Amino acid sequence: MTLNDFGASELHWLMNMLQTVDVGLVVVDTHYQIQLWNGFMENHSGLLPRQVRERSLFDLFPEIDEDWLRRKCDPVFLLKNRAFTIWEQRPYIFRFKNYRSITGHADYMYQNSTIFPITDSRGQVSHLCFIIYDVTDAAVSKLELQSMNGQLRQLSTTDYLTQMRNRGNWEENLRLEFNRLQRYPQHSSTLIMCDIDHFKRINDGYGHAAGDLVIKTVAEIIRKSLRSTDLPGRYGGEEFAILLLDTSADQANYLAERIRRKIEQTELTYQGQTIRLTMSFGLAERSAAMQDYLQWLNAADKALYTSKADGRNRVTRHQD
Ligand code: GH3
Ligand code: MG
Ligand code: MG
Repeated sequence: MTLNDFGASELHWLMNMLQTVDVGLVVVDTHYQIQLWNGFMENHSGLLPRQVRERSLFDLFPEIDEDWLRRKCDPVFLLKNRAFTIWEQRPYIFRFKNYRSITGHADYMYQNSTIFPITDSRGQVSHLCFIIYDVTDAAVSKLELQSMNGQLRQLSTTDYLTQMRNRGNWEENLRLEFNRLQRYPQHSSTLIMCDIDHFKRINDGYGHAAGDLVIKTVAEIIRKSLRSTDLPGRYGGEEFAILLLDTSADQANYLAERIRRKIEQTELTYQGQTIRLTMSFGLAERSAAMQDYLQWLNAADKALYTSKADGRNRVTRHQD
């Protein structure tokens, strides 16, 4: 059936549908001058068809990235292909305000679009038609889910009290670094394990809340002493682990000593009482003899144990 077969009333219906359908319809010529602008476009842009007719799309809507859209449309003109744009690529073609109530927190309308060719009687592509779909609801719920997943991931990898990596997350980083060093044996990285001395006495003497404050304070001191490439984690109750990338045992020893002194000098006030504390350290540089990351961990742990056995408040290096 061609348009000629339609009676006047059918044509009238078609025009009505085009006006009221809940998608945007825009027809442009080869110079991107607007020829058709339906009710959806009028309502959302605030521009009447007569205000846009024969005007360039890019002049009227400077927010449209002209290069990008031309690249999308070239194959539609040349090859008579359809083209699509999706909100994940670009949130929208036309920047329209979002009015939908349930997705009220999106500032603008997310859009997908289909662009298809309109041919003239000789079969040449003379115009393009854009169909603009409002996909704000779907986009917003997908984005919310993603950020919820992000929050859950953060919760499952971060220690609540100190906001450091938790043990599982930190150990995974250690494993990855160990594997990396297997491929680059000329690099060296060093691991520090440290544990607060006589922490039970703090808990017993001042209470659990004071103990928590001490753990938080130690975490803060460690964090402030590190560079951005160092990876600290809360390994256990009052035990921390620090992975120092591309760092020798000498350099790590220097850093551990600095942290040890800072902790020794710290005076914490808790409910009018002054709490002082010390910490013991063990460090181990990754050596070629180690078969897996657990051996590396073990070496640092042994050195920490030696620090405890030798009287605490000190740094011990693992001896091969
Ligand atoms: P050492 O010098 O040998 O390390 O002595 P210590 O008293 O620190 O010994 P240990 O490591 O066995 O004690 C750790 C204590 O830390 C036991 C546990 O009740 C307490 N603890 C573990 N996690 C937390 C926590 O999140 N908050 C508080 N307040 N205490 C904790
Ligand atoms: Mg302890
Ligand atoms: Mg301990």
